[in-house]
Amino acid sequence: MKTETKAPDQEVPDNSEGLEERVFEGLGVSPGIIVGPAHLRDGGDVQVLEYRLPQGKLNEEVERFQDAVERARRQVGNLKSKAESYHGAAAEELGYLLDAHLQMLKSNSLLGAVEQRIRREMLNAEASVMAEITEISKNFAEMDDPYLRARAQEVREVGLRIVRNLTKTEYGGFAHLEPGSIVIAEEITPADTALMDPKRIGGFATDLGGAEGHTAIMARSLGIPAVLGITGLFAGIKTGDSVLVDGSNGRVIVNPTAKRLSDYKLRRQALARETRSLALLRDVDARTRDGENISLQANLELPRDLVQAVAAGARGVGLLRTEFMFMNREDLPAEDEQYDALRTIVEGMDGYTVTIRTLDVGGEKLASSLGDHVGTGVNPALGLRAIRLSLKEISLLETQLAAILRAGAHGQVRILLPMISSTNEVKEVKKILLSVAERLQAQGIRIADPLPPVGAMIEIPGAALAADALAQVVDFFAIGTNDLTMYTLAIDRSEEQVAHLYNPLHPAVLRLIQFSVGAALRARIPVSVCGEMAGDPRFTALLLGLGVRDLSMSATGLPRVKKRVLKIDMRAASHRAMAIMDQHDSGRISALLDDFNESH
Ligand code: PEP
Ligand code: MG
Repeated sequence: MKTETKAPDQEVPDNSEGLEERVFEGLGVSPGIIVGPAHLRDGGDVQVLEYRLPQGKLNEEVERFQDAVERARRQVGNLKSKAESYHGAAAEELGYLLDAHLQMLKSNSLLGAVEQRIRREMLNAEASVMAEITEISKNFAEMDDPYLRARAQEVREVGLRIVRNLTKTEYGGFAHLEPGSIVIAEEITPADTALMDPKRIGGFATDLGGAEGHTAIMARSLGIPAVLGITGLFAGIKTGDSVLVDGSNGRVIVNPTAKRLSDYKLRRQALARETRSLALLRDVDARTRDGENISLQANLELPRDLVQAVAAGARGVGLLRTEFMFMNREDLPAEDEQYDALRTIVEGMDGYTVTIRTLDVGGEKLASSLGDHVGTGVNPALGLRAIRLSLKEISLLETQLAAILRAGAHGQVRILLPMISSTNEVKEVKKILLSVAERLQAQGIRIADPLPPVGAMIEIPGAALAADALAQVVDFFAIGTNDLTMYTLAIDRSEEQVAHLYNPLHPAVLRLIQFSVGAALRARIPVSVCGEMAGDPRFTALLLGLGVRDLSMSATGLPRVKKRVLKIDMRAASHRAMAIMDQHDSGRISALLDDFNESH
């Protein structure tokens, strides 16, 4: 693995001033240890455009402002209910602060003033909010009472939250940060993570977020240590504090003591040794002890993951998430732009197959360029998203299929459809694919020949239960255990408050995987697992035992899984998998699996 893709090791500060050490516990979602200066993302660098509105647009603008306020209330309410589930002085103080923010988001003094400014000055909402918070903060700052002076900062924080919601740019980028900085934020979205350069960002930690959400997945794929879901973190750290992020154990330590730092230094060295020894496996075939070949492929989130995938010895891309092309921009990528990006990846994989998934936005994966097209109703995870959106906005799908077909002229590609729930969806896409191919051919444009295989993600319980029917209309399955677990157990994968209940070893999830694999094997179509389960060596023996031979995962996790495959005896794994499938209790399942992993 290439070490130069990482932020530089930090000169470990020795906390010689003897500042009090504070330890925050959260969800360790991306392994690794890093020490560096904290950078708080307070949104202070929000860029706001100022423009005048025609009279007829004023009501609409006020409504846009009210929507942003409503969203801010939900965000603060969310933070508050989380703070309530914790104890201690810091949590209590945070509760008071959030109460004050909620109060401001309900009171008329700020909101009424902004609405009046929009109407009176015919000024756009974000500029009106900025003007209002500047004025209110100035008035507060001039007061004698220190308590009231401190309120100025709160007004500003509330106002900036509304502005961020209005501009839909959650936060600014990270390009200006010192190399090795640790980003601390209330929340980091997948789109934010896409802006992180692992050469610059040492690690990050947040108040919100679950272990299987896309922010976590992207952190793992970038190899950036990260801890999510820590109540009171943002309020408890200042920019410039010395912070240690232990992504392996889910800890963030502010002002670490000298003893702590030297312990962590040793652990970092041990991790670096392990990484070097795993790198030696790059060209070793992933074959079980009894000679069964396993295909280990990479999941790509961003084009830059390609380098890591090749360095890790991935035998293809089992899942290319195309969402990256639609993030952090206001317009849609044209066919040529998509084709260029895909072609680079296809050529980069040098003859290995690249499985390109069509757009999977919606739920937590909001693409800014799709703005209002994506469902944001009460249950966005169940709304207009993924293949449903593609089949509604047909031109979006046509453009993407055209780009994929053209990229397919430069290597082996497969087309993967996200969130499939019925055979009709597949049939519809295939019809569109044919018409796009005919159009391109008629124009004399070179495309994949023969047409690429078309596969379905099995990630909705209904799709898993209908896997035998789906196997008749697709060329392959890719089992998405992240969403399959979420939808089967009704546990939001990116919600920290229920993260402890998210369990792919629940018998219901395992039965759905077993049934889907069986349906694929009976129909003689390939089946892979490309959810996070595939990248965790703890689950490797179980998945192989259930009949899976293709695993696709983040390139950073691939060497560890390969190491595990080399130790497995397939017959023993199948035997243990059958014993596991007889169980009803996930605790017992965990125990049987861990016992197998320790003894084999
Ligand atoms: C999954 O759901 O398991 C999956 C691989 O898709 P994503 O994580 O992109 O939703
Ligand atoms: Mg999914």
